Amino acid sequence: MEKVFKKLRVSGDKTQGFYGSVDIVKSSELGLKCCPLCRGENQELHNTTTPIYWITCGCGIELHSYYSDESGAFIDADIAHISDPFFSKEHCFEAHKEAIEHIVKKWNRGE
Ligand SMILES: [Zn+2]
Repeated sequence: MEKVFKKLRVSGDKTQGFYGSVDIVKSSELGLKCCPLCRGENQELHNTTTPIYWITCGCGIELHSYYSDESGAFIDADIAHISDPFFSKEHCFEAHKEAIEHIVKKWNRGE
């Protein structure tokens, strides 16, 4: 997982806010278990620039999750965009890191 976090790029500034992104990450780098539906092993992790991540599988299923800074909780939902920017680079990085850890754990529990 550390390799994945190294790919996490945070950009922006204190005025506009910080955003993070990773290129598509393959299941082997994340240590994902096989798909509960098709038993396939070729999932991908996606995100845009907010700490919303989703895992897709070739069979068509998707698992969504994001970290809500307001509530300090993970919300498991299919939400395309959240608008609140981060005003600290470190905070942004941590939120993305936690969001990735969360969705990987969730996938591996087969929820
Ligand atoms: Zn599948």
